[in-house]
Amino acid sequence: LPTALIIGSGPAAAGAALALSSREDQQITVIDLGLQLEPDHREQADALAAMPSVAWTTEALASVAIGPVPSSSGGLPQKRTYGSDYPFRNIGQLDGVSTADRANASVISAAYGGFSTIWGAQVMPFPAAAFEAWPVPMSGMEPHYRAILRAIPFAAEEDDLAADFPLIGPAQALPPVAERTARVLESYRRHRRRLQNHGVTMGKARLALRAPECIRCGLCMSGCPYRLIYSSSQTFDEMRRKERITYRGGLLALSLDEAGDLATVTAMDLRTKQVQRFSADRVYVAAGGIGSTRLVANSAGLYGSEIHMQESQQFGIPFLSFRGVMDPRRETAFTLNQFNMTVGLDPDGHDLAQLHFYTYNAAFVDALPAPLRAGLAEPARKALLSRLTFALGYLPSWRSPAIRLEVGPPADGQLPSVRVSQGPGGSHHPMLRRVMARVLRSAPLLDLYPVLPMLRRAAAGKSYHFGGSFPHAPDGPSRVTSDRVGRVGEWRRIHLVDATVFPNVPATTFTLTVMANAHRIATESMSLPQ
Ligand SMILES: Cc1cc2nc3c(=O)[nH]c(=O)nc-3n(C[C@H](O)[C@H](O)[C@H](O)COP(=O)(O)OP(=O)(O)OC[C@H]3O[C@@H](n4cnc5c(N)ncnc54)[C@H](O)[C@@H]3O)c2cc1C
Ligand code: SF4
Repeated sequence: LPTALIIGSGPAAAGAALALSSREDQQITVIDLGLQLEPDHREQADALAAMPSVAWTTEALASVAIGPVPSSSGGLPQKRTYGSDYPFRNIGQLDGVSTADRANASVISAAYGGFSTIWGAQVMPFPAAAFEAWPVPMSGMEPHYRAILRAIPFAAEEDDLAADFPLIGPAQALPPVAERTARVLESYRRHRRRLQNHGVTMGKARLALRAPECIRCGLCMSGCPYRLIYSSSQTFDEMRRKERITYRGGLLALSLDEAGDLATVTAMDLRTKQVQRFSADRVYVAAGGIGSTRLVANSAGLYGSEIHMQESQQFGIPFLSFRGVMDPRRETAFTLNQFNMTVGLDPDGHDLAQLHFYTYNAAFVDALPAPLRAGLAEPARKALLSRLTFALGYLPSWRSPAIRLEVGPPADGQLPSVRVSQGPGGSHHPMLRRVMARVLRSAPLLDLYPVLPMLRRAAAGKSYHFGGSFPHAPDGPSRVTSDRVGRVGEWRRIHLVDATVFPNVPATTFTLTVMANAHRIATESMSLPQ
C-alpha cells in the first residue's frame, strides 16, 4: 500500500492530507510538534460555551478573553487565543533562531494546527495575474481552491470583489455586520464608479467561519468559545476520529533524506530526546515557511548560506469618520475582519494592495492613549470609538522588503542556527505612498479618513505572509528552487508543500493558497511513478 508522511498539522499539512486521504488505500502518518492549548484554558472556554452568553461574568471571561499584548518586535501587538500564547511558544523549534532589525522572533509555530490556531480566518484566492509567475495558471489552481473551500467553513458574499476574486466555493452569508461596515459599504455602493476609477474596490470579508452559528458575542479576536473559526486542527481531529491518519505529536523533525524507493525523516522525541527515523514512499514537508526552510537547509547542508524569503509587507493604520455610529461597545457584532478594500495601481491587477478593516473590538480601548482611558474621559472616548476603524494592509512581495535568513551550523546534531532580519528590496515606500494617496482620495466618498501619522509598517516576519525560499521554477529544480510538485535538487520523493515553494506572495490573503497549493502538489504526486 502507498505510504505518506506529513510533517506538521498547520493549513499546508491539512491541504496535503485532504488530497492524500481521497485515495482510500493511502496510509498517512503525520509527525508534528503538536503543542495544545493548556487544559485550564480549554476548560474555561468550554465553560463559556456551555452557558448562555448573557450569563458570562467578568470572572468567567477574565482568563480567556484576553486582548493582544505588546510584541517584542514593536509595532503591532501579538494576539492571544483563549488567554494563551501557545501558538507562538517555543518548545524547542525556536532554539537557535535569533533576530536583527527588530524582526519578529515568533516565526515557527509548535501548535497542533500551527498558526491557524490564532489567525484571522480571512480566505481569498490570489489574483489571477499572480499565477503568471507560477507553473500553474489560475485555471489549474481553481479545482484545488474549490476542494479546500468545500472542506472548511466558508462565509462570503458575491460583491464587487468577486470580479477579480471569484468566490469559487459554495459560501454561507456572513453574520450581520457592524453599523460602520454597513455605512461604508453603502457609501461605496453610491460612489462605486468614482472609487473604481481610483482603483478602489470594496466588499465584505471572506472568512473561514461557521457563520450561521455565530451569536455575535464579539470574542473572535481572543478565541471563539464555540470554535466556529476554522483551525486546521479541526481537519486533523476529524481525520484522527475517523482513523484515516496516524498522528504522532511531540516530534521535532531534524532532517530529510532519500535512499532507494524511500524518503526518510529524522526526528527527535521532545520528551525522551531520542532520535527516531520514519520512512515512507513520499514525505510532504509542511513545517511553515521558515520551519521548512530550516529543515531543508539542514538536510542539504546549506550552512553559511543566506536565504532570501519573499514577504508581503504588512502595515496597520487607524481610520476616522466624521459621522459617528451608535456606541460600538453596546453593539453585538463579530470582531473578525468585516470589510475589505483592494487598491489596484495598474490595469492588469498586478500591483494590488489590500486593506482588511476591523470595526470595534475590546483591544481598541486598550490602544487608546492613557488620558482617553480615564473615567472622566468617557464622553470623548465614546465619541472617538463611534468613529474609529482599524485596517491591516498588505503590499505584494515584489514591492516589499525580503526576509534574510542567515543559516549557521547545527548545534549538537540538531537544527542549524538561523538569524532572521530584513533583507533587500525596500522599494515598498513608493507603492505604500501611492496606495495611501488613493485611500486618501477615496476618504470623503466613504467618510473613512486614514490617520496617516499613525501608519505603521510591521517588522520583518510579522505579516506571517512569507515564503518563496525554494520557489517553483519553470526550468526545473536546483539547490534553491523546486519543481511544480515541490521537489528541491535531486529529491524525487520529498515534497515541500507550504509557502516555501511560492514564486511570489501577492497582497491578498495567503493561507487559502497555501492549502490549495499543498492540495495540488499532493494530488499530482499521487500520479507520479512509484
Ligand atoms: C495572528 C495571525 C493572524 C493571521 N491571519 C491570517 C488570515 O486572516 N488569513 C491568512 O490567510 N493568513 C493568516 N495568518 C497566516 C497563517 O496563519 C499562516 O500563513 C498559516 O498558518 C501557514 O500555514 P503552514 O501550514 O504553512 O504553517 P504553520 O501554520 O506555521 O504550521 C506549521 C506546522 O508544522 C509544525 N512544525 C513546525 N516545525 C516542525 C518541526 N521541525 N518538526 C515537526 N513539526 C513541525 C507545527 O507544529 C505546525 O503544526 C495569520 C497568522 C497569524 C500569526
Ligand atoms: S462573534 Fe466571534 S466569538 Fe462570538 S460566536 Fe461569533 S465567531 Fe464566535
